[in-house]
Amino acid sequence: MTLENLFASRTQHMRASEIRELLKLLEQPGILSFAGGIPDPALFPSDAFAKAYASALTPERQAGSLQYSVSEGYLPLRKWIADRMALFGVACSVENVLITSGSQQALDYLGKLFLSPNDTALVRWPTYMGALGAFRAYEPRFDRLSLGANRPVQDLKDAAQASGGSVKFAYLSSDFSNPTGETVDRQGREQLLDLAEALNSAVIEDAAYQELRFDGDFVPPILAIELERKGHIDACRTIYCGSFSKTLSPGLRVGWVVAAQPVIQQLVLTKQASDLHSPTINQIVIHDVAARMFETHLAKLREHYGSRRDAMLSALERHMPNGVAWTKPEGGMFVWLTLPEGMNGADLLADALRTEQVAFVPGAAFFPDGSGENTLRLNFSSPNIEQINEGMLRLGRVLRGSMN
Ligand code: PMP
Repeated sequence: MTLENLFASRTQHMRASEIRELLKLLEQPGILSFAGGIPDPALFPSDAFAKAYASALTPERQAGSLQYSVSEGYLPLRKWIADRMALFGVACSVENVLITSGSQQALDYLGKLFLSPNDTALVRWPTYMGALGAFRAYEPRFDRLSLGANRPVQDLKDAAQASGGSVKFAYLSSDFSNPTGETVDRQGREQLLDLAEALNSAVIEDAAYQELRFDGDFVPPILAIELERKGHIDACRTIYCGSFSKTLSPGLRVGWVVAAQPVIQQLVLTKQASDLHSPTINQIVIHDVAARMFETHLAKLREHYGSRRDAMLSALERHMPNGVAWTKPEGGMFVWLTLPEGMNGADLLADALRTEQVAFVPGAAFFPDGSGENTLRLNFSSPNIEQINEGMLRLGRVLRGSMN
């Protein structure tokens, strides 16, 4: 018996994430991997988590920790998030905050909320592939989000209409983006808001890496800039997605959305119908650890990841052949390489694994149309400095070999 022919049409758009498939291969010993996008487990605040779980499970507290809870999320955590958002210029109340199971769940819910089949989602070329995957299930069309470009708004509208829908949102990984490591500056954020106004569409601001700034100037979230314009969060079209995955732990699956109340209310209904609520005890524990040590822990992460970023940039200077360009991120976990036209990242990966046991992610996976063959993503948060130096030396050799 086969059930595949019974699957809904939307499953045709769901593809295995190339990164996940690749990570399976990389479990072989001896591979120097720059392919992941994950925090260094040595930096998890595990003692603080152990204490917080023990405290949440005492006889007085266990009923509250192990029980079902409200879909909106654990109130003290929502309050902590509202206070933290205020530090970034986003004045909001707990009614504007929903806790999600990671920001990935927020992306899925937002796809569900906004996208009918054939609606248009504007995304960067390249874009975080998890966002493309989340949105694809709702059968949209992707169009290119170019900031400061002179493509007329009417052209974007017409193209969306010709495909049978309208532009519902623009999605952006705003700080130290996955995959390029780049940050959209204030002017770009203003341009994005102008575009969204002209299109009457939403803006999804994915701030997963926002707290991981090593140097350079803070850029206010798009939501903060819109708030300056509009005066009240409930008048804003920007939906901010945050996460504790890159700062405290991805395994607990705690993220959040901050948005106008009508959006939050609809997301709450979505969550009720989906998983009822995010794990109660994990929200309590994240709150406990964040309230006690968020800033000191962040300082430690910034120092460690910042020195790895430095090591990667200087190793690239030393080892990359002419014709290779790369981004210089001020934070986050990724550097993005552009190889000479005509080179292919996927072929290069096959070579690199075979001849030098070094791995990265070919960039084409991040482009909705599979273009960008001559690009690749390198991660600097998982490998240590010695591995970064050795890995870039090996990558340089592979590149030189294939350029000859
Ligand atoms: N957005 C971006 C840009 C990411 O890189 C990731 C994780 N790789 C996520 C969202 C999802 O993270 P989480 O669900 O763990 O919060």
